[in-house]
Amino acid sequence: MAAPVAPGRVLPTLNEDGTRRWIRPKWSDGRWATRRRVVAYALLALYLAIPHVYLSGKPTILLDLPRREFTFFGVTFLPTDTLLLMLLALSAVIAVFLATALLGRVWCGWGCPQTVYMEFVFRPIERFFESGVRGSTKIDAEGGRLHWRRWAKHAVYLVIASFLAHTFLAYFVTWDAVSHWVFGAPAAHPVGFAITTIVTAAVFLDFAYFREQVCLVACPYGRWQSALLDNDSMIVSYDANRGEPRGKGKDRSGKGSCVDCAACVTTCPTGIDIRNGLQMECIHCTQCIDACDHVMDTIGEPRGLIRYSSRHLLSGDRTHWLRPRTVLYPLAFLLFFGTFVYQLSARDAADVTVLGTASGAPFAMQNATQVSNSVRVRVANRTALTHPYTVRLIDADDATLIAPMNGMRVDPGHTETMPFFILAPTSSFRHGTREIALSVTDGAGFTTRLTYRLRGPVRDDDDDHGAER
Ligand code: SF4
Ligand code: SF4
Repeated sequence: MAAPVAPGRVLPTLNEDGTRRWIRPKWSDGRWATRRRVVAYALLALYLAIPHVYLSGKPTILLDLPRREFTFFGVTFLPTDTLLLMLLALSAVIAVFLATALLGRVWCGWGCPQTVYMEFVFRPIERFFESGVRGSTKIDAEGGRLHWRRWAKHAVYLVIASFLAHTFLAYFVTWDAVSHWVFGAPAAHPVGFAITTIVTAAVFLDFAYFREQVCLVACPYGRWQSALLDNDSMIVSYDANRGEPRGKGKDRSGKGSCVDCAACVTTCPTGIDIRNGLQMECIHCTQCIDACDHVMDTIGEPRGLIRYSSRHLLSGDRTHWLRPRTVLYPLAFLLFFGTFVYQLSARDAADVTVLGTASGAPFAMQNATQVSNSVRVRVANRTALTHPYTVRLIDADDATLIAPMNGMRVDPGHTETMPFFILAPTSSFRHGTREIALSVTDGAGFTTRLTYRLRGPVRDDDDDHGAER
């Protein structure tokens, strides 16, 4: 039985019979393409450089999942910095909201790694292999997937996908760790080998097959835009007043400026027709502006039939830059980002946590009268200098601290853990516990006081002592 056929195209990337409609957009050179190229190559350099650029001894951006640390331009956030991270994330979200309210999906078209890699790395390679001498349709007719040009393209894709995947992983485990995985035998690093292989395959499949589906299906941002845009947002728009009625042919009498050449459609990386108005699929890449400007130049009409404009401007009104959302978003941004900066500057010079024993019994009897507790202090140095951290007991003359690593040096932005023992008389425990106070200092003005509950034996006379007290 034949597959049912839709009465029209449901998605720009699907044919009526439900099969994938492959989009191979024509590149359109022009003013906007030049600007985007400059931005894209600058961003590419940035994406690739970040794992190699160190600030205060750490990569510029590192999302260290095993250690649960996030380093961002020399500042390290720990699990205890949830509020700070939340403020930073909210500030970023509001900045994107503001950019969208002003300029539409400018992030999608200009800054998103999916677009930058697709349009400025993978697509040029595809054009080199498939459209340089013969058009891609001819390749399809001459063997399609089996054509050597397509195999060659995929081979180059795989190499680049592998490089990008390793760079991506370096954001999580550092470039040194990735190099270690790459140059070591897979058997010596099975987890690292598996991760790099899986991420390489994911990057390859994304750019070789999934492509614009990421923007149309997977990413939720396109669906938000109708809520984030208003009639004053400057978006890539077709001027229907000027363009319609569209029509082909040299005789332009009674016709608008649009010659219905479809250059704006064949250049669109998401396969839509901008003349149908604002659509969820439009990523504001501006390629249709350049394509149409070129057509207008050819027919001697002024440029700008497709241009950055607002719906108010297109209907003859003026654009209002000052409106509730363009006032409230910056205010909210200032509030969240200002609080973030204040909280960041008010953070202690170190984050210190006292922990119990890593394994084994909670305490050990040293002899009949002394109890030993294995304790650890974890210190995260938030300053820009290396400091020696010292731990000591406060107001506990009967207890002894044995710390072979006391004076532990911690580099800027790093976290180290110091193990030590505390000996205390059995008689000082009540109901199996005793609270003690510790101080940790860095020798440069930072001191913090922590309490810790030691564990010990429950004695027969605990209740008697409790009654005496
Ligand atoms: S490129 Fe311009 S002239 Fe050609 S179809 Fe699109 S809007 Fe019309
Ligand atoms: S409609 Fe124009 S701006 Fe929107 S995605 Fe297509 S080519 Fe880019």
